[in-house]
Amino acid sequence: MKSYPAAIIAGKSYSGNAGLEVLDPTTGAAVASLGEADAGLVDKAVIAARAAFADGRWRGLSVEARQKVLRSCADALDAHADELADLECLNTGIPLKQIRERMVTRAAYNFRFFAEYIGQQAGELYEQHPGYLTMVRQEAVGVAALIAPWNAPIALGSMKIAAALAFGNSAIIKPSEIAPLGVTRMVEILLGAGLPEGVLGLVNGTGILTGAALVGHAGVDRISFTGGTGTGRSIGAVAAANLKPVTMELGGKSANVIFEDADFERAVDGALVSIFANNGQQCLAGSRILVQRSILERFLAAFVPRAAAIRVGDPRDAKTEVGPVISEGQRQRMLRFAEIARTDGAKILVGGAARPGPGQGGGFYVDPTVVLTENHDSLLCQDEIFGPFATIVPFDDEADALRLANGTSFGLVSYVWTESLPRAMRMQEALVAGVVWVNTPMMRELRAPFGGYGDSGIGAEGGKACAQFYAREKTVSIPRTPQPIERLGLG
Ligand code: NAD
Repeated sequence: MKSYPAAIIAGKSYSGNAGLEVLDPTTGAAVASLGEADAGLVDKAVIAARAAFADGRWRGLSVEARQKVLRSCADALDAHADELADLECLNTGIPLKQIRERMVTRAAYNFRFFAEYIGQQAGELYEQHPGYLTMVRQEAVGVAALIAPWNAPIALGSMKIAAALAFGNSAIIKPSEIAPLGVTRMVEILLGAGLPEGVLGLVNGTGILTGAALVGHAGVDRISFTGGTGTGRSIGAVAAANLKPVTMELGGKSANVIFEDADFERAVDGALVSIFANNGQQCLAGSRILVQRSILERFLAAFVPRAAAIRVGDPRDAKTEVGPVISEGQRQRMLRFAEIARTDGAKILVGGAARPGPGQGGGFYVDPTVVLTENHDSLLCQDEIFGPFATIVPFDDEADALRLANGTSFGLVSYVWTESLPRAMRMQEALVAGVVWVNTPMMRELRAPFGGYGDSGIGAEGGKACAQFYAREKTVSIPRTPQPIERLGLG
């Protein structure tokens, strides 16, 4: 069984505390052991990152020189794409095809995107007072602590690393202890692509030990967190006490609103992919499917048999559409929600049970599940389940759809399916969500912010959003010619 380091600091690996096991969700067996970084090792990582920041070995480079390194990071990720995809699959159970085609490709794209973005940045200059030039400079901030979840480690981790580095910062990433393999290897690959020593570090371990030590460290200047809402609240409290700016990409319970005037086939395709892609483990999953009552029967007749026919299996098999969920804990969570469906009077239309894995080893497999309920107050509609579990709720008219869509504490994404432009316009304005996708399942435009309202987060990621977070503004005023200064103390 391969061992993975507790930390990579200034290019050197440290084994740290032994003891964490990384599991393969297809069998439940341990496939790697993971060192854990304690507070001492985290401190060492922050000191190294600060030293790299202080002497300007990265932020002091010309934009062109930084762009060159970022592009070579992208090339290195492309060159190792198969290896990274295999590793990511091994500890997440996400279908290999989805990882290879979407996530690893996206990781390289994130570096190329930010390389281009920093080449386009302009400054500000004010000349309102004729005697002075006042300029606003963008400066790198310092050390960014990046905390990533297990559901899309390489895609989300690469976004954070590329953004933090592009604006001249040092960065330390802590991947999820449940799925650290791909990100750990990605950091090794990036370090080989020309980043100066100490600019990028990694610490591995649990949230409670390693993550808490990192976000609470006084030498950290920015915290970028993606994960659960509860964790976000604790990290937010620490950040507030230390006065550290933080972005929070948290949970969701996204409404997928399907009107009777939708392009029906596309809406069904979109509804399936938005809840079952990535094994249903996506913050942006369209997990509440709100369907206009007039087309409910037709929708169920189209959606349910296809959900039942989803190919569940070994994620390495190119035909597999849904693999195992990440852990026994997540499997039990799915089963608990199936139980809630039974006791809350919802109707289980398909699934609702664990299923044996395709091989000998067991694994954390569950049936893709679809339930129908009229009770929008049920936990089925209010809580993030985070698995291949769709809840369908009928609505009567547009006002009803809006009331339901906006009727949770979350506000990450809303999906709307309608061929009526006026209705699409009304809905996109009234939906309480950071992102609205009209007649499309998943569209990530990196120039635009991606972030949630309410319990789905604070701040956002994207070109401008990251520029605002990972750089700070300094206002500098210089007189064109000596300006009069009141002369004190002359008697
Ligand atoms: P999680 O909150 O359990 O863990 C996320 C990360 O935080 C892990 O690396 C963990 O070790 C670390 N962590 C835990 N406690 C910590 C602490 N006290 N201090 C510092 N770090 C700590 O989340 P998860 O189960 O890994 O991921 C699933 C969640 O992530 C879901 O709720 C999902 O919606 C959310 N998510 C949100 C987005 C988004 O963009 N909004 C994207 C992906 C996932």
